[in-house]
Amino acid sequence: MLNKEARQNHSQMQDPNDKPKAAKEKAAEEKAAKEKVTDPVCGMDVTTSAGAERLERSGHVYYFCSAECREQYEASPDDFDG
Ligand SMILES: [Zn+2]
Repeated sequence: MLNKEARQNHSQMQDPNDKPKAAKEKAAEEKAAKEKVTDPVCGMDVTTSAGAERLERSGHVYYFCSAECREQYEASPDDFDG
């Protein structure tokens, strides 16, 4: 009946959407490369990018909003761990 016809029309409409969908997936991949983590010193959200302040300690990489926070963490990391 009418419903069947409507469903066919819908599936036909999905074909032109294939290309934009692929572009969307690529954008999602680029987004995933930049992760959001928390600055252990001030608790701010930090985006992990190439220029971000970071510090490696015991195999874990910490990210900071600024050099000041990184220096604070470096000075007394035990105050901020956990
Ligand atoms: Zn901070």
